[in-house]
Order: sequence, then structure tokens, then C-alpha cells
Amino acid sequence: MTIDQTILVTGASSGIGEAAVRELAGRGARLFIGARRTERLEALSRELGGEIGWHALDVTDAASFDAFADAAEARFGRIDALVNNAGVMPLSPLASLKRDEWKRMFDVNVHGVLNGIAAVLPRFVAQGGGHVVNVASIAAHLVLPSAAVYCASKFAVWAITEGLRQEHDDIRATIISPGVVATELGNDITDPAIADALVGWRRQSLTPDAIARAIRFAIEQPAGVDVNEIVVRPTSAN
Ligand code: NDP
Repeated sequence: MTIDQTILVTGASSGIGEAAVRELAGRGARLFIGARRTERLEALSRELGGEIGWHALDVTDAASFDAFADAAEARFGRIDALVNNAGVMPLSPLASLKRDEWKRMFDVNVHGVLNGIAAVLPRFVAQGGGHVVNVASIAAHLVLPSAAVYCASKFAVWAITEGLRQEHDDIRATIISPGVVATELGNDITDPAIADALVGWRRQSLTPDAIARAIRFAIEQPAGVDVNEIVVRPTSAN
């Protein structure tokens, strides 16, 4: 099925975001992609060719997100969907008092999503439709030791998405909640014991294309169908 939509994807420089771009480009979508590592965006755009634009984006900066959305609209004339995928996961026990990492998780995972919603919502209201896909996590449903702040940030993403859905019945809102996926996420964990544990968790993990397919499934539904949430976990077959 061809996807005749202009779709913005954040965190498109690696992992799930990059895989989503590949998946959606394969269905003919017009894509506008953002992240801080622009050399990766440029390489991905060049590789895929076609209707794909890129722009530097720091999701924690509202002005950067607005400029990203403006550039997408200037390129394609309209925005149909935003995939708020950028996220970070520097896990640690609360007792480590890694305040900077707590703040970074909320800045990127929560305020990044809010900045994205703020950048597109007035356009979606004006055009009477649109789709916000927020990548949360199974950590939006459970709390794990050393993951209190990360889980809190993803609980917030879940609540924000559900709130958006309730407030706008002409705008689709989707939560994507992956289990463990083998990506760069967590490579910045500074606690050595948790960094070791992550290696074990990744032994049974999904590849990013599994989540990309879930994102594509939500987006390709007709405008009258809002997929509220997709939870995807790996099995031992991985
Ligand atoms: P990656 O680390 O591979 O990708 C994270 C992406 O976020 C990168 O493209 C990075 O780009 C971007 N990013 C980080 N900070 C910023 C910022 N300030 N501004 C813009 N972009 C930023 O991890 P994943 O692909 O795994 O993560 C994608 C999403 O999936 C995250 O929200 C994560 O929480 C979620 N998730 C992942 C799971 C997993 O097991 N991997 C499980 C459940 C959920 P750059 O550094 O270039 O800016």
C-alpha cells in the first residue's frame, strides 16, 4: 500500500527512527527527517533518494523544532504526520543522584515530544487532521530498578499521547511501545553494572525494522482509523 503523506521523523539518525524512515520511504511517503548528527541524515537521504528532506533538529529546543516543521512545510507544502521518536536512556539507580542525566531524559523524552506536538498541532487543527505517533516503551507500563526516571519519562509520553487523542477527535494519536530493540540506545549509560546488564537484555531483542513496521501500520490506516497503541516485544526466536 502506498502512503501518500508527508511525514516528519525525529531521531532519524539511528536505530528505530532510521528504520522507520526506510520503511516509510519504501511505501512512497514524503519524508522530512531530523536529528543532531546531520551527517547521518544527509547520508540516509542521499542513499534513499526520492522525496526526502533533512534538517538539523534538537528536540529539546522549541525554536529548533518549529524551524524543523517550517522547513518541512516549505519543502512539501503540508505536514500529515509527526513521528516523535527521539529519546535517550542513561539508566542509573536514584541513589546515584545523576541529576544531569535525569534532566536530559525529561528534556529529550518528554519536552522533546511536547515541542513536537506544539510545532505541528496548530497546523493539524487548521487543516482538520493529522497524526502524531509517539514512541514510548514497555517502560510506559512498568517500572524497573535503575529505570525510575526513564520509566517516568515514558509514562509521561503515554499520558500526553492519550490526552492529545481525547482532546482532538479529528487528529490521530498513536503510542508505539517497544520492548528491547538492538540500537544505540543506552550506549551512554555511565553506571558500569547497568551497562553490563544492558548487554544481557539485548541478547533477546528486536531489530529496529520490527518497530518500523508497527509505525508504518499505524500511519497507513485510513484517516478514520486511529491505532491508539501498539506494544511489540521480542520472543526467544530472536
Ligand atoms: P538510538 O539511540 O539508536 O536513537 C535515538 C535517536 O534520538 C537518535 O537518532 C538521536 O539522534 C536522537 N536524539 C537524541 N537526543 C536528541 C535531541 N536532543 N534532539 C534530536 N534528536 C535526538 O535509540 P532507539 O532507536 O532505540 O530509540 C528511539 C526511541 O525508541 C527512543 O524514544 C527510545 O526511548 C525508544 N525505545 C527504544 C527501545 C530500545 O530497546 N532500543 C525500547 C523502547 C523504546 P542524534 O544523537 O543524532 O540527535
